[in-house]
Amino acid sequence: MEKITGFIWDESYFWHQTGNGALNIGSGGWIQEDTHAENPETKRRVKNLLERSRFMKELHQIEPRSATRKEIEMNHDAEYIEKISRLSDNGGGDAGEHAIVGPNTYEIALLSAGGAITATDAVMQGKVNNAYALTRPPGHHAEQGEGQGFCLFNNIAIAAKYAKATYGLKRIVIIDWDVHHGNGTESAFRNDPDVLFISVHQENIFPKNRGQVTYTGENAGEGYTVNIELPAGTGNEGYLYTFEHIIEPIINQYEPELIMISAGQDPSRFDPLGRMMMTADGFYQMAEKVKAMAEKHCDGRLVACHEGGYSTAYVPFCTIRILEAFNGKQSGVKDPFDQGFHEGPLYQNQMDAVNRVREVQAGYWRV
Ligand code: ZN
Repeated sequence: MEKITGFIWDESYFWHQTGNGALNIGSGGWIQEDTHAENPETKRRVKNLLERSRFMKELHQIEPRSATRKEIEMNHDAEYIEKISRLSDNGGGDAGEHAIVGPNTYEIALLSAGGAITATDAVMQGKVNNAYALTRPPGHHAEQGEGQGFCLFNNIAIAAKYAKATYGLKRIVIIDWDVHHGNGTESAFRNDPDVLFISVHQENIFPKNRGQVTYTGENAGEGYTVNIELPAGTGNEGYLYTFEHIIEPIINQYEPELIMISAGQDPSRFDPLGRMMMTADGFYQMAEKVKAMAEKHCDGRLVACHEGGYSTAYVPFCTIRILEAFNGKQSGVKDPFDQGFHEGPLYQNQMDAVNRVREVQAGYWRV
């Protein structure tokens, strides 16, 4: 294997149009709209930084294929798929709650879900050890029959279902570190013990009334959903504490055959939609921990799909650090925003939050 990390992207990912906005929604008619929060720049600039730093040369670039209609139907209602196709053909609209469809979005969304599948194939077939798909539109809020929170098709859920169907996997872990709860992914696997879903998110942020610590899955899937709500202000040390006390012990007991990450870089300290304090180095450390778990349990098989992250200045620096951890080489890019402060120390309220998760999860796992 020449290059260990695959990088999947397509120019059209940056052509999905979300229009104008005032942050994530309209202005209500009171303030002039500028750019929608989920605009192409955060992700285009990830690719730009990889090229500017020459780190792209260390990655195995893989062209995504489009997901087939049948693959999308593994996770979404036919009627909903049809709705996105129709909106897309007719110039755009909303496919749910803040789930913007623009002209030609349908084809781009198929290619975004296909990017997650392409990454999964590359890893499962041993073409690369691990892979990062710069998927856009993002996916983790998308429910079976409704788009939500800028998400249309649930890329990672589709790829996990594809991995089960194609490679017969029985134990997949999805770690969702986007600052928001991965409700769509949780819904997709709430009854399914074959996919252990772990969401670490800011408490009470989005969507409403989802992601509570006490929700642990249903029926055969009970005990295979782990919700970790962290207080606003949690930074590197709080996240690493969470990995050490909850995520790593549970994954060690589950012994996954594949690990996937919903990589939202919106817990960063500059994110306009989140209130966390992670630095680029914090993302590096999380990614290293996940990589080590993948090496321990499943020959390093690790697939990441990009989700949120709305700081156009900072998301690229966070994402390149994740890729460095995946690849095991350094890009030489310095975080220009690292002023040497001790960002995001561990406070008592963060430890208390982790202890609440431990109390609930102790019913299922040794934590
Ligand atoms: Zn998010």
